[in-house]
Amino acid sequence: MQGRIIKGIAGFYYVYDVVESVIYECKAKGIFRKEKIKPLVGDLVEYEILDAEEKTGNIIRILPRKNELIRPAVANIDQALVVFAVKKPDPHFNLLDRFLVMMERQEIPVIICFNKKDIADEPEIESLEKTYEACGYRVIFASAREGENILEIKEALKGKTTTVAGPSGVGKSSLINCLQENVNMETGSISRKIERGKHTTRHSELIPIDEDSYIMDTPGFSSLYTNDFDKEELKCYFPEFEQYQGGCRFQGCNHISEPGCLVKEALEEGKVHPVRYEDYCEMYRELEQKEKRRY
Ligand code: GDP
Ligand code: ZN
Repeated sequence: MQGRIIKGIAGFYYVYDVVESVIYECKAKGIFRKEKIKPLVGDLVEYEILDAEEKTGNIIRILPRKNELIRPAVANIDQALVVFAVKKPDPHFNLLDRFLVMMERQEIPVIICFNKKDIADEPEIESLEKTYEACGYRVIFASAREGENILEIKEALKGKTTTVAGPSGVGKSSLINCLQENVNMETGSISRKIERGKHTTRHSELIPIDEDSYIMDTPGFSSLYTNDFDKEELKCYFPEFEQYQGGCRFQGCNHISEPGCLVKEALEEGKVHPVRYEDYCEMYRELEQKEKRRY
């Protein structure tokens, strides 16, 4: 039997079997303790049924992982959807850029969704679109309130497992509700089953939204950024810098204060967005400070 771990609470793993459309409450057998791999939400697993009535089982094997994210700790993620509002609240660019860096670092493609399109003006939308499309990201403007462009988002999530992140107040829950509409699955029975193992710190959870499409509501947006890497790496996580990389006067230019820097030139010509560059510099300085403290 094969299924996917959609939630893990206190030693129990909830394995969703797509074929049966049933969720089994599973334990991981001792072998995992010896091998020191812990099952993760998102894992594809082989399991055996212990009690078909009670829907309990045992996880026997974890199938090879496509990837493994550190934050949030989850396996087999295809992409991330990061949600901000066009306004109310205004987008927090610094947070967004930090999130993008984290995902670039973990090689997870990102789609940016700006919600609350219904209350935004055309110039505001255009400006956001230009800024982030210039960095190579797909940008979708949507309104959870008016159901606008929900289909476009659904299309982008089809057949994939997507982690959905965003600060509070931007309408993330509203969007997730829209995406969950018409899911032909007994979501009620899932929540009841999961309810039993209630320890309501927020856990990562996969939500099936379509056949073979899952979203993961990612809690704790601001804690997603870590700065445990070298400052020289940071420039690789700003895709729009890449085209200039080889052209700077100094090999390995960090685009900070080196002379003959093409990124700074592009900034002056308006080809690199000042907010993005500012966030880059801020993160760079933080990494630098951290290194100094270490020595
Ligand atoms: P979350 O904190 O990101 O999960 O946001 P919620 O889904 O709880 O929404 C926060 C607030 O924004 C609520 O008052 C919603 O009614 C409102 N909201 C959500 N989506 C939209 C939208 O598309 N347009 C507008 N105007 N308001 C929205
Ligand atoms: Zn440079």
